[in-house]
Amino acid sequence: MDLSPILSPLNDAQRAAVTAPVGPMLVLAGAGSGKTRVLTHRIAWLIQVEGASPHSILAVTFTNKAAGEMRARIEGLLGIPGAALWVGTFHGIAHRLLRLHWREAGLPQGFQILDAEDQLRMVRKLLRSQGLDESRWIPREVVWFINHQKDEGLRPKALKDGNDPTRRQFIRLYHDYEEACARAGVVDFAELLLRAFELLRDNPEVLRHYRARFRHVLVDEFQDTNAIQYAWMKLLAGSDGAPYIVADDDQSIYRWRGARVENLQQFQRDWPQAQLFRLEQNYRSTGNILQAANALIAHNAGRLGKNLWTSGGHGEPIRLYAAFNERDEADFVTQRIRDHMQQGGERRDIAILYRSNAQSRVFEEAFLSARIPYKVYGGLRFFERAEVKDALAYLRLLANRDDDASFERVVNLPTRGIGAKSLGELRVAAREQGSSLWRAATAAVASQALGGRATAALAGFLQLIERMAADAAPLVLHEQVDLVLTASGLIEHHRREKAERGEARVENLEELVSAARGFEPEGELPPLDAFLAHAALESGEGQAGEWEDCVQMMTLHTAKGLEFPVVFICGMEDGLFPHQRSLNDLDGLEEERRLCYVGMTRAMRQLYLTYAEQRRLHGSDSYGQASRFITELPEDLVEEVRPRIRLGRPYAAPTAAAHHRPGRRAVASEPVAPGMRLGARVRHGKFGEGTVLNVEGQGPQARIQVNFERQGTKWLMLAYANLEALS
Ligand code: ATP
Ligand code: MG
Repeated sequence: MDLSPILSPLNDAQRAAVTAPVGPMLVLAGAGSGKTRVLTHRIAWLIQVEGASPHSILAVTFTNKAAGEMRARIEGLLGIPGAALWVGTFHGIAHRLLRLHWREAGLPQGFQILDAEDQLRMVRKLLRSQGLDESRWIPREVVWFINHQKDEGLRPKALKDGNDPTRRQFIRLYHDYEEACARAGVVDFAELLLRAFELLRDNPEVLRHYRARFRHVLVDEFQDTNAIQYAWMKLLAGSDGAPYIVADDDQSIYRWRGARVENLQQFQRDWPQAQLFRLEQNYRSTGNILQAANALIAHNAGRLGKNLWTSGGHGEPIRLYAAFNERDEADFVTQRIRDHMQQGGERRDIAILYRSNAQSRVFEEAFLSARIPYKVYGGLRFFERAEVKDALAYLRLLANRDDDASFERVVNLPTRGIGAKSLGELRVAAREQGSSLWRAATAAVASQALGGRATAALAGFLQLIERMAADAAPLVLHEQVDLVLTASGLIEHHRREKAERGEARVENLEELVSAARGFEPEGELPPLDAFLAHAALESGEGQAGEWEDCVQMMTLHTAKGLEFPVVFICGMEDGLFPHQRSLNDLDGLEEERRLCYVGMTRAMRQLYLTYAEQRRLHGSDSYGQASRFITELPEDLVEEVRPRIRLGRPYAAPTAAAHHRPGRRAVASEPVAPGMRLGARVRHGKFGEGTVLNVEGQGPQARIQVNFERQGTKWLMLAYANLEALS
């Protein structure tokens, strides 16, 4: 038997972990040390040498993408189709089991899966049917409560209310929600896991069958398992089983979603005979990147501790760019992508990583106008996000009352007591009269056709839209957007939601104000119409197809397990990354630091960190300080990037920031125009006051980019602009 394909691409430590006798095992190792490779080769080894049947393998990874890659790797190693292997995510595998054993799991055969939005809708319906006030019993809090209990493996009857009436109500809602789900034959994401656990726990036959079958349970990214995932795995593997666990405690980044890094210690308690393997050689990154990442994570306390090294060269220094603002940041990245392409690189080599989804917008715009294909992973593109579409629907109604799709979308959002029944009647009326829903609604209100409560609610909505339209008329575009977000109640609605998701939605909505502010209408359309057209086009265009060579954009969380030759981590400002919420919370801060470690260790050859001294995000301006994580990196590994355009004069007065950034001192040459330095305040006859962002070219060809307060960013010919220097 030729084992060289399995063994020769491994170092000694990896080989030891791959070839160890079958038994419980923990591979604990840092980023890029080949954990995933070891797991894959272990599977090939089990089949090839230990004589394991492919049917006996159950491998759990973190994403479907990773599962697909793993299956392909194993097929490559063995030269056989990997269909017999079960490789998937926890949710995917749970789902598969429930489909096979719906009866034992107490589900209808054709049960359907509720996604997060469906689940929320279901809870809303429940609250309404019980006459509970949604401002008191906030639907997202209820959802959060339910999912949290399920993640911990708890059913309503296991919960104690501790004589707390609020908690009692939550528990009751959880109970009623379960009944509603059972009636409808639906299962939410958290339920998949809990049900799959209970399936094994409560059906000894089923458990015996799968224990006998899956002799080999292997789990990648184990540090991010939650309580129920762990319990399920433990049950399936059995205490005399041989689970093969791969983990890096420094990459645990889902605590906020119930992940328990303590599962690592729990594993060692539950399988005291488990062998521990460590891998210390990193194959992914250059020496500089690795050393910087190691230095960063060393700031965390309570680590299991490991020592990562590489035999590769130091490579290039880590590049730090202090952008003037978020647009300058995007321009910088755009330019570096162009350089990369000019040197014969591929776009798919490049990843743009950020902390918050809303940050993608500015990059999307820059890439769109620079014609750089990109793809946003995990998470919708900005204008496709549900809350953004809600806000756009309000704006569309302002522009056109007869836009039925928009009417339907927001007439009862936030909830204002216009139920499906009333809406159904409106639809019928509109169809009969051949009119829009808006007109039908106006008529229905006038004739009181819907009954008292519904009529009043509908009249309130019509008035709201008319009032918003009147109030918005004299405003500039971004103020109109701002007004609509507030007056519609959307912001308030999402603000009341608990947890990260509600917050992200508020951020995205506020980001829409920024988008409007920076929007430069072309042609003759009124600004609002032009903006809506832009949004509609953007949500369909721009994003590259699967096959296209494109820049990869994703949040730091989504980047876990992946690697890219060139990585940009953008928005490295305190309050953004580390996230505001974590600044006063040590555990939270450490989790953010692990996230930064994950981000940095995605980079193979080049790593760029960027931050903006001024950032407009979520609708407001902030003057950021460089992330503390930057200051935690060894200085000699980091090189400041000088701005591309060197203007004639040094910065007027050395600011605090300039002290930190000796690299940004400008080089003396002929001034382009007096007073037109980057960051200078200028006034334009028509556009008003603004700040210089960029200057390109020389002499009569020189162009200047100014961010005008009212009009957003514009490029102007310096020779004709007649700018007046203010400072
Ligand atoms: P992460 O912690 O980010 O999940 P990991 O520990 O799972 O990383 P892998 O993704 O398995 O690491 O490996 C990192 C990179 O190093 C991959 O490109 C992999 O192919 C390569 N690699 C791993 N082991 C070796 C080796 N022995 N020789 C050459 N390359 C290797
Ligand atoms: Mg991995």
